[in-house]
Amino acid sequence: MMSLPDQVDVLIVGYGPVGAAIAGLLGRYGVRTLVVDKLPDIWMAPRAIALDNEALRILQMVGLPEDAFAKVVIPQVRMRSPHFGEFGRVNTAGTIDGHPKLVTFFQPELERALRTYAERQPSVTARTGVEMVRFDEDRDGVRVVLRTSAGFEEVVRARYLVGADGASSNVRTAIDLDFEGETYGEDWLIVDAAGVPENIDDVEFLCNPDRPTPHMVAPGGRTRWEFMLEPGETREEMEKDSTIARLLEPWAKADEIRIERKAVYRFHARACKRFSKGRVFLAGDAAHVTPPFIGQGLVAGLRDAANLAWKLAWVVRGRASEAILDTYDQERRPHAVKMIRLAKLMGQLVMPRDHVRAVIVHGSMALLRRIPPVRNYFEELGIKPKNAFVQGLFVRGGRGGRRGSWFPQSVVRSDAGVVQLSDDLLGPELALVGLGGDPALSESTERQWSQAGGRTVRLPDMMERGWCLVVRPDRTVMHDGPIEEAERLVTESLRLLGTPAA
Ligand SMILES: Cc1cc2nc3c(=O)[nH]c(=O)nc-3n(C[C@H](O)[C@H](O)[C@H](O)COP(=O)(O)OP(=O)(O)OC[C@H]3O[C@@H](n4cnc5c(N)ncnc54)[C@H](O)[C@@H]3O)c2cc1C
Repeated sequence: MMSLPDQVDVLIVGYGPVGAAIAGLLGRYGVRTLVVDKLPDIWMAPRAIALDNEALRILQMVGLPEDAFAKVVIPQVRMRSPHFGEFGRVNTAGTIDGHPKLVTFFQPELERALRTYAERQPSVTARTGVEMVRFDEDRDGVRVVLRTSAGFEEVVRARYLVGADGASSNVRTAIDLDFEGETYGEDWLIVDAAGVPENIDDVEFLCNPDRPTPHMVAPGGRTRWEFMLEPGETREEMEKDSTIARLLEPWAKADEIRIERKAVYRFHARACKRFSKGRVFLAGDAAHVTPPFIGQGLVAGLRDAANLAWKLAWVVRGRASEAILDTYDQERRPHAVKMIRLAKLMGQLVMPRDHVRAVIVHGSMALLRRIPPVRNYFEELGIKPKNAFVQGLFVRGGRGGRRGSWFPQSVVRSDAGVVQLSDDLLGPELALVGLGGDPALSESTERQWSQAGGRTVRLPDMMERGWCLVVRPDRTVMHDGPIEEAERLVTESLRLLGTPAA
């Protein structure tokens, strides 16, 4: 194995999808980063299968090209009951912010793409077969002891440590931030197969209380089934080929298809009390775990990556004060907790375990569907928590709730006539965005803005002509106001960032 660097700015423990996304983003900002994973290669277990438009926008932010991994666009999610037929539906057709509302994908392929991208960045070093053993924090950084697969211990110093080391995180245990929340008493068998003769083209929840079974189409001619285990059924018995063949009978003959992956999981709904302590930050499953009923576990981890990486980069590069790092927990934790609550609610609504409750719940849902506003609320995803913050790194107030929310993305034509997604025009830095006009800054503010990693961009009047917004690299609106007040907006944003010259 190649040697490890003695000293880096950020050390990431865990090279799963979240660790790889953080490494890629830090690499984009030129931050000296070491990412390590104890496993020799990507973990092949059947895990995440669905991503929403927010996750796809973050992968765009990381720098992955549109075709970096295969996707199937999902037009709808249907819920079917043995008593009422289809009693619920979510419309996932169309796009938000330039990306499909819902896709399915193959997690190992996405992880490979994220790793390839991260390792292309000159400031990123990635090492597999390297385990984090322990660490101590002092005033200037963290001293981390790593063990290589050959059994040697090496010490690396880092200014900051990110624990992206999954649900059984050692980093989380070491900083004493245990999970709060519940463990479900439910186990699920996950089966991925290829070559199913008549595959569906969407996601279907078969809500039979005898055996709830979500199933869905995935790229590469694959299908995923998730079978809830009955009381008394064991992992060993359920993972047997003969059991799987029997469960799959309604869809395919076992000798006609290829079972690629199978595993029994127990689902959890838990989050940490805080997502950071001192110089140590938790991201992804290390900070929160959710049952997968709304496909938001990895999506939440990618939101963590987008939120944390640029803040670390700005502090390491001396563009912002260390105080901004406290806003990672303030901004991310409440949203992650809301998503976990929604996943639990979905589990209870869609998959009750006894017939009486199923008739009451599914019958009520079928009736409520007849009331158009209620139907729209569920079907058009009004129930999904918005990616908007109550407190954090933005100037409070303003109209229309734009500050602290995501700046929308659209397809625009640049001055040079190139048609592109607006985030690509904004670039990876801070952006002062003028809508339908050019915001003007004094010479000294312009200089400070550029020293703080800011640029100025004009976009067509997507929202309101003559308006101006300060947009963070993670696409959160930090400030907004009339375009004539651009100077004030930038000065106040620099103050909030604690940029040294400001
Ligand atoms: C059945 C199932 C279905 C799911 N479906 C969805 C879905 O549709 N959509 C969705 O968004 N999410 C879904 N999820 C959740 C998603 O898979 C996870 O949220 C995601 O994989 C977590 O990524 P991570 O990078 O945080 O952690 P992990 O992928 O667990 O990576 C952690 C890494 O850290 C390494 N590590 C651990 N300890 C150490 C150490 N001490 N030193 C070095 N390395 C270490 C591990 O080897 C591992 O590679 C699903 C999960 C399951 C189980």
